[in-house]
Amino acid sequence: MQDLSRQRCFNHKFREAVARCPECGRFFCRECIAEHEDRVLCASCLNKLLKTSKVSSLRLTGLIRLGQFLCGGMVLWMFFYYLGQILLSLPTSFHEGTLWQTGWWGDQ
Ligand SMILES: [Zn+2]
Ligand SMILES: [Zn+2]
Repeated sequence: MQDLSRQRCFNHKFREAVARCPECGRFFCRECIAEHEDRVLCASCLNKLLKTSKVSSLRLTGLIRLGQFLCGGMVLWMFFYYLGQILLSLPTSFHEGTLWQTGWWGDQ
């Protein structure tokens, strides 16, 4: 264990350090560190990390979004397609208003 109380923040010379950034090894006060995916990083390292990881993850989420959008569109299209088929396959008696006598959906 390192003695943190003796360390001062890299950005604030008069503030006590509460954590050490694992990336750059500098000490920082509470205001200068941030948590990111269960890791405590300083602001500059966090920015660096976000800049490098953002591009790839953004691309990936974009692809996933596109896939979800296409899947949703397909499901919608199928739904309306089959709905149209069902409407078309309805017996003409439906349109003539004799539905309730014939019971086209079966014996119920
Ligand atoms: Zn750092
Ligand atoms: Zn600080």
